[in-house]
Amino acid sequence: MTVRTRLAPSPTGLLHIGSLRTALFSYLWAKKNHGQYIVRIEDTDRTRLVEGSVEGIIKMHRELGILPDEWPHHDGGYGPYTQSERLSEYAPRLRQMCEEGTGYYCFCTSERLEALKMEQEELKLPPRYDGHCRHIPLEEAKERVGTGEKYTIRLKVPKGETIVFNDIIRGRIEFKTSEVDDQVLLKSDGEFPTYHGAIVIDDYLMKITHVLRWEEWISSIPKQVLTARALGITLPEYGHLPNVLGADGKKLSKRTGDVSVVEYIKKWYLPEALLNFLALLGWNPKTDQEIMTMEEMIEKFELTDIHKSGAVLDPIKLDWMNGEYIKKLPHEELHTRLSAYLKEYESDFYENTFSKADFTLNSKIITELSLRMKRFEEYKDLSKIFYALEATIRRDLLVNPKMKIESENDAIDSLRLAYTILSEASFHTIDAIKTPLIDAISESGKKNGQVLWPLRVALSGEEFSPGAFEMAYILGKDQSLSRIKKYL
Ligand code: GLU
Repeated sequence: MTVRTRLAPSPTGLLHIGSLRTALFSYLWAKKNHGQYIVRIEDTDRTRLVEGSVEGIIKMHRELGILPDEWPHHDGGYGPYTQSERLSEYAPRLRQMCEEGTGYYCFCTSERLEALKMEQEELKLPPRYDGHCRHIPLEEAKERVGTGEKYTIRLKVPKGETIVFNDIIRGRIEFKTSEVDDQVLLKSDGEFPTYHGAIVIDDYLMKITHVLRWEEWISSIPKQVLTARALGITLPEYGHLPNVLGADGKKLSKRTGDVSVVEYIKKWYLPEALLNFLALLGWNPKTDQEIMTMEEMIEKFELTDIHKSGAVLDPIKLDWMNGEYIKKLPHEELHTRLSAYLKEYESDFYENTFSKADFTLNSKIITELSLRMKRFEEYKDLSKIFYALEATIRRDLLVNPKMKIESENDAIDSLRLAYTILSEASFHTIDAIKTPLIDAISESGKKNGQVLWPLRVALSGEEFSPGAFEMAYILGKDQSLSRIKKYL
């Protein structure tokens, strides 16, 4: 058996971060088993279509590098399987169900169904079809269909049975068929299947072996099990993934904002960091190693190691992980990716500062900030002390008893020493600055902090910044001396 998994998104808006995790888990499982991962657009509910959603789904896969193994040709381009382009697959199979007595034609008008629903609401009964057309003889029904009467096809749910179903993640699920509605599987246009009809047929035709999907779909299991039985086909195995929760423990939803994948990957996080983070959202790889390459994730991934309980999306951890990935990027690649980011999201800063600055200066700043930046978004702010033509004078920061600087005079005295030494230093490396400075401090009988504190303040004009040596190295000799001179 070749393992085949799928993501089956409905094109109803921006892709949710939880769907990306579903895609990733499905992809990991397929790759681990040398199988295939596919994408199928479920667009049978024509009233909920949102323009641009399919493009968003395709883009997400491309940008994250989790490419489907089949990207069939359609509409003059390549893209995912799309249910509305496969209509000929559904109705004939569903009509066959009627022939075999596992489904039936229903002629109830929407007015009748509406009235029934209202009556049930009044009586506080669960909304359920009342079986009005269930016993119409097949020949009679077909005649009515032949005369052009509008109809739907419903599943004929057998009553009085208990069905046991085994979910890969949740284990045994039991349900009584008496609680299952006679679900509509083919809509009244005679062509479009409903979600349940389409999904069961497509998973079968596409030879899907494992369906991983969002927990909330568990309630559709009874209908899908019975539909498959009515069609005489086998279902794939199902694993219902735990919800993704916000830091407040509530389920993330499109309404809580901040969950659109496109935003996450374009603006805030490196794709590889986001994938690594999402993999750990509900999956326990049984190792302390948190940073994993795609290959490592594929190797370690097991469906049996997925939790049942909701997984909390901790933005602090995601930031941390992104920072780790930024540190790991080869310098040249970081430079390229950061400049593309700035060009798109900080165009003023890019035009007026970044692209005008000397390449070496940019490189030095990037190297320094790569150690501290959690997101590219922070670059503009963290880097401004290096690009500025001069630093703010911060007299208020000079005196610092913790560093044994009791007066402004002490600080200025130290800056004088630093100025003298730095005027002679080569600045080719950080060490070329550090070594002579440390030697001179120790000869002068001062403590390191007594000189390095005011020096760092003078160079950065900030309470917090990279250390004095790094600052001096990045700024270069002229800019460093000019900043110190202001204080003298
Ligand atoms: N079309 C459904 C969705 O939008 C897919 C449910 C399933 O995977 O079975 O999530």
